[in-house]
Amino acid sequence: MAIPIDPRGWIQVQKVRNGRGLVALRSFRVGQSVMVVRGKRVTADVVWRYWDRNPKRGANCFRYDADRYIDPDGELGAYANHACDPNTGLVRRARMLVLRAITTIPAGAEITHDYSTLLGADDIWTMRCNCGANQCRGTVRNIAKLPKATLARYRRLGVVPGFILDTVLEG
Ligand SMILES: [Zn+2]
Repeated sequence: MAIPIDPRGWIQVQKVRNGRGLVALRSFRVGQSVMVVRGKRVTADVVWRYWDRNPKRGANCFRYDADRYIDPDGELGAYANHACDPNTGLVRRARMLVLRAITTIPAGAEITHDYSTLLGADDIWTMRCNCGANQCRGTVRNIAKLPKATLARYRRLGVVPGFILDTVLEG
């Protein structure tokens, strides 16, 4: 499949620490939108079926409400990697998800977000992590398993969607 291109030329798929990822071609200030997550709208059932045939595709899907996901297959979002100390977070706008800078991002840096911010407290999915952060958690787990200070920081930054936060507050 062809490597997707950012029409604005702000980010590019490149080789990164772990395979391929999104690299900034310009700098971003805190609060700036880096990318809209494009893709096909699919239900949770469809994502479950991906797990059997193509687990990576399942892992790449972005949850955007209680039971719907964006499947970024063939789009830039498919290359958005996790980091335990990320430089962007996901913000929901209407039915869209946007990666927003939560730190200053210099040109040349990999664009990352924390997968745990889209994993509800009932989500059993986990992933081994090799992101290289001092605070790397080793295994990515759901939002309820985040260190309290990390969750508090993400909440302050507004990068935990309401439907994910609800699963923690209910639990
Ligand atoms: Zn990590």
